[in-house]
Amino acid sequence: MSSTRIAIAGCNGRMGRALLLAGAHHEGISIEVALARPGCEAVGLDIGTLMGAPPQGVRVADNLPGVIAGADVLIDFTRPGISLEYLDICRAQGRAVVLGTTGFSPVQKAQIAEMAKEIPIVFAANFSVGVNLSFRLLEIASRVLGEDADVEIIEAHHRHKVDAPSGTALAMAEVIARTLDRDLATDAVYGREGHTGARKRQTIGFATVRGGDIVGDHTVLYACEGERLEITHKASSRECFARGALRAAIWLKDKPAGLYDMQDVLGLK
Ligand code: NAD
Repeated sequence: MSSTRIAIAGCNGRMGRALLLAGAHHEGISIEVALARPGCEAVGLDIGTLMGAPPQGVRVADNLPGVIAGADVLIDFTRPGISLEYLDICRAQGRAVVLGTTGFSPVQKAQIAEMAKEIPIVFAANFSVGVNLSFRLLEIASRVLGEDADVEIIEAHHRHKVDAPSGTALAMAEVIARTLDRDLATDAVYGREGHTGARKRQTIGFATVRGGDIVGDHTVLYACEGERLEITHKASSRECFARGALRAAIWLKDKPAGLYDMQDVLGLK
């Protein structure tokens, strides 16, 4: 089987560098295009410089329309506004997209779904295999315990993260709400302060911690009478997201247009 040729957006960002490092040694992957923001100092460098490695023969570009033809799949972990611009370019040139950016508004998510009518897109708030398996475990735990438990989601991330709660915490809440027939619009509580009154059973509570270099911790707590169950995932490096995204790119290469997620990639549906 031929290699999947990938383009990496935001290659000088935290996830971009993790993708360069994981992609350089990943079977079935060849990095053909790397992109950075126009005007930034990474543009024109060999990607080896960003990886602390010898030259790799790929120079950082800043103009996606001119270079995307060299790749089968764009892997994009950047910012919502730039991701939408990049998606539109990939739609125009018939390229697949693995989309890991978080923090999209409901309107922006609808735009992504619209573009997925024309190109294949894997869109996931978290590309780790462990987290995606935890979604299935949450479904089971919610079905068995949910009506008797107070469900709270506690997440922690590094000090640079700009959105809260994390996209993964929200995705976990969506799984729980769907299983328990609850509605996040009315049942989610995103923080507590002062005289809050007693907790309502249907609440799905969130607690957010930000600090240091925490890559990403998520715990879902099912607090019952006399016992508690906690389902916890801890990412120890960004490598787990990068490897998941590369696996998604290989899976996506020959798929028809559509909006997919990691549950599709992992065969968990
Ligand atoms: P970062 O700030 O380190 O990197 C962002 C990258 O986007 C940088 O390379 C930056 O140059 C680029 N960028 C920003 N504006 C741009 C523009 N106008 N044009 C071109 N490039 C531009 O951030 P990060 O920690 O790498 O995270 C990036 C995104 O990925 C965030 O939304 C984060 O929440 C998300 N993320 C998702 C997962 C997942 O598994 N889905 C995992 C980790 C991070």
